Amino acid sequence: MSKVLREVTDELRRMFDSARSIVVLTGAGVSAESGVPTFRGGGGSEMWSWRGRPITELSSAELLATDPALVWEWFDYRRGLLKELTPNPGHFALAEWERRFESFALVTQNIDDLHRVAGSMNLFELHGNIWRARCLRCASTFEARETPLESAPACFVCGGASRPDVVLFGEMLPEGVFERAEEAASRADIFFVIGTSAVVYPAASLPILAKQTGAKIIEVNPEQTDISFLADVTVLGLAGEILPQFISGRAH
Ligand SMILES: [Zn+2]
Repeated sequence: MSKVLREVTDELRRMFDSARSIVVLTGAGVSAESGVPTFRGGGGSEMWSWRGRPITELSSAELLATDPALVWEWFDYRRGLLKELTPNPGHFALAEWERRFESFALVTQNIDDLHRVAGSMNLFELHGNIWRARCLRCASTFEARETPLESAPACFVCGGASRPDVVLFGEMLPEGVFERAEEAASRADIFFVIGTSAVVYPAASLPILAKQTGAKIIEVNPEQTDISFLADVTVLGLAGEILPQFISGRAH
């Protein structure tokens, strides 16, 4: 069983300070603190359906194959919800952590781009990015920030039709990204699990891999989760309150 804390203690801060390589996995909880609706599990703003269709159908490879325009409409609706949202103190703390460590990687299941807006750079987006499109013909990816969309963005390379560059239900993770995340996890001194119970595979395998290769696992979640059994330390609280405590009150 993990040690359960409600704030970052001096002992925990010392462990953090002495690490050389940090890897962080974030999930929907971190986004939810900025007001991003969650679609699977937890949060007061959870959504299950839109226009009478279940989310799992709207965000599916199957619907993309039969009605790509509707998939774009759905994601454009979500882009509209995200447009005005800004990073929270948890996002900003992670960007600050990156500047303090020799080796730092941020692996996220979130597609909202808020980590990048906050300044994170070494970012592995396991589920893609809602502000990017991918060409269905030549597979080029490109930024597509216009919202509301008048029509699906055309590929800037070949003019072909595009799709949102996000991982849909029934699809594999983007090639290469997960392998690089695994590589980082296997070299981590500390692996953080933040705002997610990390039970969805394959992301769930990252903390297990990190643990097997000698990392300490620190969980930051409002409540204990299925990952708590694996964690060395569980800090109960919001990311926006807990993460800044790791670096508070100290000079650079
Ligand atoms: Zn193209």
